Amino acid sequence: MTTPFTGRSLVIATMHGKEKVILPAVEKRLGVRCQVPAGLNTDLFGTFTGEIPRAGNPLETARQKVMAALEKTGASLGIASEGSFGPHPAIPFVAADTELLLLTDRENGLEIAAQEISTDTNYGHKVCYSPEETETFARQVLFPSHALIVYGGSPSRKDLVTRGITDFHQLRHAAAAVLERHGEVIVETDMRAHLNPTRMAVIAKATEALLQKLTSLCPACHWPGFTPKEKIPGLPCGWCGTPTSLPLAVVTRCDKCGYVQENKFPSGATKSDPAFCDQCNP
Ligand SMILES: [Zn+2]
Ligand SMILES: [Zn+2]
Repeated sequence: MTTPFTGRSLVIATMHGKEKVILPAVEKRLGVRCQVPAGLNTDLFGTFTGEIPRAGNPLETARQKVMAALEKTGASLGIASEGSFGPHPAIPFVAADTELLLLTDRENGLEIAAQEISTDTNYGHKVCYSPEETETFARQVLFPSHALIVYGGSPSRKDLVTRGITDFHQLRHAAAAVLERHGEVIVETDMRAHLNPTRMAVIAKATEALLQKLTSLCPACHWPGFTPKEKIPGLPCGWCGTPTSLPLAVVTRCDKCGYVQENKFPSGATKSDPAFCDQCNP
């Protein structure tokens, strides 16, 4: 398949080894040559641990990262990724990892983003009062295959910070120093991708979602990003035929040439369950 990216050089704006999952898939599916710019400090655009606050939303941050990489290398095509952690947008009290991937093509004035929201994350933190408590929490958050951060004080005024802890000896040592000075120690998951295999797997899924969009080409002009953006409600009720709020069709519109494709019955079903009908189930 030939895309507007075929044969070009693509820069991956990342630190922390994310290219390990992004690069092979992108090279294979887009037919590009990838490079990771040396000396690009994406931490300038914010860190998870709050030393440097993020300037905007994840999309804006990803945009800043990719632009910095394009400036540095002179390339016109780049990908950046941005992760965020917190409560799941639809399921309260469940932690979620949201990974956003953004492709920017300056030559064609193209920007395409995709994201993966996963509840598969070890994201968490705990205030502990003894070495035993730190080790119990550590095991709950997949330590030592996933790294930890230990510090004293408060999240805004941290003291004795140790990052990237990956063995129990190191954890005991770091926690003991904080406990001695503060009487309590905060243990937190280190979410940097190279120290967190669970997060790396979610980044791989986000990469797949982005590639899916990039390789969905307009049937008329072969422009990428030809994926459904609009739903038309009205799937008829299976009992009485009244249109329901479920989608009857999805509409895909090409950003480049305006070609429109309408696909009826996107879920495969031609009738709705009467449970969704205002007449049968008011
Ligand atoms: Zn088109
Ligand atoms: Zn009905």
